[in-house]
Amino acid sequence: MHKKLFIPGPVDVREDVLQKMGTQQIGHRSKAASALQKGISEKLQKVFYTNNTIILSTSSGSGLMEAGIRSCTRKKVAVFSVGAFGDRWYKMAKSNGVPADKFSSVAGQPTTVAMVDEALATGNYDVITVTHNETSAGIMNPVKEIGELLKAKYPEVLFLVDTVSSMGGVKIEVDAWGIDVCITSTQKCLGLPAGMAICSVSERAIAAARQVENRGLYFDLVELYDYVHKKDHQYPSTPSLAHMYALDYQLDRILAEGLENRFARHLEMAKYVRDWAQKNFALFVEDEKYLSQTLTTIKNTKGIDVSGLNKQLAERGFEISNGYGDLKDVTFRISHMADYTLDEVKELITNINEILGL
Ligand SMILES: *Cc1c(COP(=O)(O)O)cnc(C)c1O
Repeated sequence: MHKKLFIPGPVDVREDVLQKMGTQQIGHRSKAASALQKGISEKLQKVFYTNNTIILSTSSGSGLMEAGIRSCTRKKVAVFSVGAFGDRWYKMAKSNGVPADKFSSVAGQPTTVAMVDEALATGNYDVITVTHNETSAGIMNPVKEIGELLKAKYPEVLFLVDTVSSMGGVKIEVDAWGIDVCITSTQKCLGLPAGMAICSVSERAIAAARQVENRGLYFDLVELYDYVHKKDHQYPSTPSLAHMYALDYQLDRILAEGLENRFARHLEMAKYVRDWAQKNFALFVEDEKYLSQTLTTIKNTKGIDVSGLNKQLAERGFEISNGYGDLKDVTFRISHMADYTLDEVKELITNINEILGL
């Protein structure tokens, strides 16, 4: 039996979107491929609220995270981490020989404007990375406010943001917030199969990257950017055309739903799960301002057997997520992203209540 995935990615993909993955191949150097990829870029610019160049990568989101940090850092990068995915960015820097310092928040706390200000006041950094929506902790960081700080005091510092588990589910205004490289994946709020990463890149990020000597090749942002511009939206190597077809189709669905409606639906689902969690358990993130709108991390205050719950949910056709890393069993996570409806979330919660006798 298929289990409905309420894990923070991958999530269920609607049947009609899945079918687009089976579209017959076309030549990746054809005019048709250019037209397909140009159309996708224009639609993604709307979702990202940007006029920046859109780059697609046949990899998961981590590929473009590595591309960003390696291609853009000339001097040193300040990595702000509130959990597993912030830590991942730091590991990427270290393993690529990119000079980096990590600034971690106390567990459950956001990256604050004050932390960024203090780090940048040293003058040591030309790039910062921030996780918009940390999927391990269920924290949404104040990216807009951090962007305002950069504009006011550190306009030369490049702003790289991981929006892997929030883009398409929460309004992220790339241009208004001054994000230079904004990265996401297909398998989270966009509601597509895993296997493609997406980012927007600013002109000044590319200008900075041109000064970096060793950017690698497959994940070189400059190589990708130049190809998109010189070869009419094509890519240096063969992309996943299956994803291109599904993405193009799903973006039409997303824009037809209406971005504001989509964001409101995500918030409505989030509020329902939060209310349930607060009534029966507690939220891992205490300050409501920083709660993720696409997944909820719940403190296991009742000491329930999370794996046991998941086994019983499986028999009923559902799956939720245990806590990530150190947070396993002391927290568990329910995602409410992509194309799920409030009714589907309610159905999940009803089943959990029945199993736990709540
Ligand atoms: C899932 C996730 C990633 C990793 O994305 P992949 O597509 O699996 O490489 C990075 N950051 C965040 C916040 C995520 O949720």
